This record gives sequence, structure tokens and C-alpha cells, in this order.
Amino acid sequence: MAELGVISLEEAKAALDKFWKPKPRDVYVSFSHAIGRVSSTEIKSKIDVPPFDRATYDGFAVKASDTFGATESSPIKLKLVGRVLAGTWPRMHLRPGSSVEITTGAPLPRGADAVVMSEYAVVEDGSVNIYRSVSPWENVTSRGSDIKKGQIVIGRLKQLNLLDVAVLAAIGVKKIMVKDRPKVAVISTGSELVEPGAKLRKGKIYDVNATSLSESVRACGGEPVFLGTISDRFSAIKAAVSNGIKIADVVLISGGSSVGTGDLTPRAIATLGRPGVIVHGIAMKPGKPTFIAVVKNKPIFGLPGYPVSALMVFDQLVADYLHELSGIPRSRQSVVQAKLATKLLSARGRQEFVPVKLVEKDGQKLAEPILKGSGAITSLSTADGYIEVPLEREIVEEGESVEVKLFRGCSLV
Ligand code: AMP
Ligand code: MG
Repeated sequence: MAELGVISLEEAKAALDKFWKPKPRDVYVSFSHAIGRVSSTEIKSKIDVPPFDRATYDGFAVKASDTFGATESSPIKLKLVGRVLAGTWPRMHLRPGSSVEITTGAPLPRGADAVVMSEYAVVEDGSVNIYRSVSPWENVTSRGSDIKKGQIVIGRLKQLNLLDVAVLAAIGVKKIMVKDRPKVAVISTGSELVEPGAKLRKGKIYDVNATSLSESVRACGGEPVFLGTISDRFSAIKAAVSNGIKIADVVLISGGSSVGTGDLTPRAIATLGRPGVIVHGIAMKPGKPTFIAVVKNKPIFGLPGYPVSALMVFDQLVADYLHELSGIPRSRQSVVQAKLATKLLSARGRQEFVPVKLVEKDGQKLAEPILKGSGAITSLSTADGYIEVPLEREIVEEGESVEVKLFRGCSLV
């Protein structure tokens, strides 16, 4: 029987490194599509914001010194010489002893240096009585006080949120250069698979990986392109992968990745071009029957069909590359110390990832291994995280201290 020539996860990554390196691309997007994306360059404002000195409130533009001494009992009378509305540009030049009615956001006329709020002013026969003095620049928002021309408003490689987009709007920028989302072709293989929603006939199961891998791609900032649930036929696999290489930056194909008679995926890909399959077999559990190929300078990750294996391999092998391509930083993985609840036997010579549930017992944190196996998607959905058992360990004793790596938010990645 053919055997997989296993190498460690690190060796597998180093092997891929020789043939392919992730190269992020830049793309312009409208700011309405910029949220969540990562800026390719720093953004400098080309204007002052606000672009002119403006009234902070409705009231009367004045020369502050004209109002000195004004109080409720002894108001100062100023000549009312006009009105400035927001959105217009004042032509007048305010002379001493005069005032102009002004609305919030309207430009301050030349000669004025403050605004008396309308609450402290009463208009009377072409004049305005001022009941409170103002100091210079009171109730005025000065030009560039929010953003100065030339100021950097967004740094390079910043993941943009809604406030960043609001700042872009304030400086009048509609398009911004961001890291492009890598396109990732997702292919499921297996003659037993049917798409969720379809009728389940005898001998068939629903395709899980199409969904779990596509969503994992999205969580890394990639754009999944699902190319279908393909039956175990050499020509069908070849056609789907060829198409994937054409339209995507990365291809993910699950199922049929081992060396059994029914495992056609690596063999089909081997006919597509050089260097072809460069890694076949990784010393991890789950995930041993994983392969990596490179064809036409595109990486193809061949993941095992078992849903838990496929997700674990995605998490350990694929996710970092997609984060590098999309520029979106991978969130830090939280780690919790716990005591192993039951003795664990592990495969020698393989780095094992065991899903665990965290429980509190007598004030102690316990990690309960979920041993449903990699065919059971619920072994992940009911787990809080996983523990890693190194290559050479065979037994982890009950009560031993273990590091639980928590799943990150809504996704494994
Ligand atoms: P394979 O890697 O093709 O040998 O498949 C291993 C196991 O995973 C088999 O029981 C398959 O039926 C199952 N499997 C393969 N692909 C999927 C999938 N996309 N969704 C759910 N189960 C799958
Ligand atoms: Mg199969």
C-alpha cells in the first residue's frame, strides 16, 4: 500500500516558500466599500477642515472688543449690517461698532473675530443689543482646527472602521487604495456529497466543507469562490482545479487527498503542470492526508475531507497566507491554562490538535477532550478551543496542566 511521506507543518510551509510567496495586491475602492479593508498607503488631507473660520452657533458675528463690558443690565448696542447664512460667502467687511447676523456653520466675515450667541442678543430697529461680552475667537470654529492641510489622517496598513470612513468624507476623498481581497477557489470532492438544501438520497451526506471553508476564507479577508461539489472523477477534478487556478489566487480543494485508490485529487492535479504536488502528508492529527501543490504559480491546498480535519488544516496551514494577502491582521489567539480532565492517548510522531471544552469544577478550570473524531463537526462546535500535543508525546495524564488555545471569535481563524 502506498504511504504518505509525512513532514512537519513547519517543513511543509518551508517547502511551499520555495515555490510561492503571498504578494498582496492593491485596489481602489469607494469609501462606502472601505470598511474592514486595510489601507495600502497613508492618507494626507489636501484641505483644512473646516476650510474657513465658521460660527459654532447661531448668533451675531462681532469684533470681540466691541462687546467688552456688556452685561445683562447694561447691554451694548451694535449696528446690524447684514446676514450670513451657512453655505454662502460673506462679502462685507465688519467695521467697528457693527455686527452681522450669522447662522451655525456660516463663514465669519472679515473684521469679525467672535460670535455672540442669539440667546444674549436682541434685535431692535436695525441694531442689536448685546447682553454678554465675548472674548476673541469665542464661538468660532477656526479653519483647520479639526484637520490641517497635509496632516496624515489614516496610517498605512490600518484596518478601516466607520470613523475612518467618516474622516475620508470630511476631507472629500471618495476612493482609497486598499489591499485587495484574495480570491480563493473552494472545491469539494466526493461522490457522496450533496449541497445543503438538496434531497438526501441513500448513501449521500451533506457537504460541510464548502460552507466551513468558504466562511473561513472570508474571516481571513479573502473572497471565496465556490466552484462546486465535484464527484470523484479524474476529469471533473482536473477541470475544476484548472478553472480555480484561472480565476483565483489560491485554490482549496477538500476530499480525496490521501493515497488510497479512491483518492484522485493529488493525481489529477499532478497532470496540470509543474512543479505540481510538492508536499504530500503532514505530521499532524487531524490532517495527515494533506497535500500542497503549485501550478502556474498558484498554490493549491489539498485538505482532507473530514470536516474537522479540513478546518484544522485550514487554521494551521492556510489562514496565515490569506491574512498576509488581505493585509488583515490575524487576531491574537487567547490561551487559557487548565488541567486535563481525562488521560489522553496521542498519536506518536504527529502534532495532535485535540478539541476541548472548558468546565469549572471545585474552583478549577478543567479541559475536557472531545473525542468524537474528525468526522464530527460537533466536536468543534461544542468545543471552546483545542490543546496541542507535540509530535513526540504519546500520553498526557489526567490532571496535567495544559494550554487551551481558544477559538477566535466566530471563526476558527
Ligand atoms: P476523504 O478525505 O475524501 O477520504 O473523505 C473523508 C471523509 O470525509 C468521508 O467520510 C467523506 O464522506 C467525508 N467528507 C469529505 N468531504 C466532505 C465534505 N465536503 N463535507 C462533509 N464530509 C465530507
Ligand atoms: Mg472522498
